Amino acid sequence: MTMQHQARKRFGQNFLVDQQIIAQIIAAIGPNSDDNLIEIGPGTAALTEHLIERCPTMQVVELDRDLVDYLSEKFAAYPDFRLHSGDALKTDFAQFHQGRQMRLVGNLPYNISTPLLFHLLKNRELIHDMHFMLQREVVDRLGAVPGNKTYGRLSVMVQYHCRVMPLIPVPPSAFRPAPKVQSAIVRLKPHRSKPATADNEILLSQLVSHCFQQRRKTLRNCLRPYAEHLSLAESQLDLSKRAEQLKVSEFVALSNYINQSLSSQ
Ligand code: SAM
Repeated sequence: MTMQHQARKRFGQNFLVDQQIIAQIIAAIGPNSDDNLIEIGPGTAALTEHLIERCPTMQVVELDRDLVDYLSEKFAAYPDFRLHSGDALKTDFAQFHQGRQMRLVGNLPYNISTPLLFHLLKNRELIHDMHFMLQREVVDRLGAVPGNKTYGRLSVMVQYHCRVMPLIPVPPSAFRPAPKVQSAIVRLKPHRSKPATADNEILLSQLVSHCFQQRRKTLRNCLRPYAEHLSLAESQLDLSKRAEQLKVSEFVALSNYINQSLSSQ
């Protein structure tokens, strides 16, 4: 079954057509028949048709109704294939867990990739791993280290929760229509045991956002709203640094010192 589908820009549709790249992605994922495999945005099934051969119980979430109809017909011979029609941003991924760690994959619509990553991370404890095609620039940000100009909130918060492994660079020519940007496949593996644990993850997230919103300022300046709670942090960390110089573990320590002071009020 082939499909003539006019790519829709508003759904971030850039379909993979390069069979060599597709084979590399499938090999990187390494799907197995007993995986709890969920693909986000299967589109015209460039990845799905290979994944389903190895994992016939896979599930997909697709927003474009025309593609949902196409996919249900195309995979009608797979009785255990589940097709969910809807918005991945509004999907409760915990429903797919059913006692089995999830493996999430997808060539994601680039316009929603960052909010989607944060949405998925809410269920990080239920996820075994994730393989996503993203803009190369986003993959660079995910894996960035302190001192790098792409190091920011996304790097710190994703690295806090996951091991980040950039895998395959993908040129625009691998897609139809070709996007204007370079892409890359990244593997994200939620930590089973975190290298550093925040006592209050909401506070960590607030501090990280706050400090990177004013990335040119010193931490001491950024943290003025917490001025009364900085003495412990000041004794252990150099607050004349800027956010972009602080390692993930140092952000966690900073948050724990401030949390300790807030809790002892
Ligand atoms: N996987 C296909 C491929 O590699 O050729 C298509 C990838 S295309 C970049 C992104 C896919 O995500 C499209 O099929 C699009 O309709 C779907 N999509 C866009 N927004 C979505 C959303 N919010 N939830 C679920 N799927 C979405």
